[in-house]
Amino acid sequence: MKNRKYDSVVFDVDSTLVTFEGLDFLAKLKGKEKELSKITKSAMNGDMSMRESMERKMRAISPDFEDIVKMGNEYIKNITPGALETIKILKTNGIQTWILTGNFQPAVGMLANFLGIKSTNVITNNIFFDENKKYLSFDRENPLSNNGGKAIKINEFKNKMGKTVLIGDGSTDLEAKESVNLFIGFGGVIFRPKIKAASKIYITEPNLMTIIPYILDNYQSEDISLY
Ligand SMILES: [Mg+2]
Repeated sequence: MKNRKYDSVVFDVDSTLVTFEGLDFLAKLKGKEKELSKITKSAMNGDMSMRESMERKMRAISPDFEDIVKMGNEYIKNITPGALETIKILKTNGIQTWILTGNFQPAVGMLANFLGIKSTNVITNNIFFDENKKYLSFDRENPLSNNGGKAIKINEFKNKMGKTVLIGDGSTDLEAKESVNLFIGFGGVIFRPKIKAASKIYITEPNLMTIIPYILDNYQSEDISLY
């Protein structure tokens, strides 16, 4: 407890806790890479909302339950270096660890379980399947399916999170900057100049352990040797 200046650290998943984008993996798995990149391109050209681009991408990929399980296994195989150690150190210092993502269960839960993050600290969007476990839709009403969703969720959980650090690579993470006590931009997987420009702290090293000194005071590097 001695080093604690924050109560919670909230992690994004894709390109933060893991070294790839889950939707890219699913598109590849389903042979829909071209469709996905077309949608991404037209979304970048302007007027499509995050929700609309998500809608189009998910309809193109149509991932079944088993595909989401495969994504979960892929998450576990491609954890960002230092993630496991970072989570252990934070927990040892009495800091709660959380996951906040627009991605889906069961994949995110599989990752959380592997990393030792409690299931009650895992916040995701919802995906729906039919009785044969085929893709139906995702929860369009969930704030995480649209811009500004992460700030809404952090405010909803504020009482439980307390003084909060958020770490993420993307614009949906950055949008929640004002809702947390410290935002750390993570460019260790994908370097994003826009996020770097807007983040007081921006990490470019490919190892998540580099966030520790910003979170724990008097952090001794030899503490790492315990792990
Ligand atoms: Mg991300």
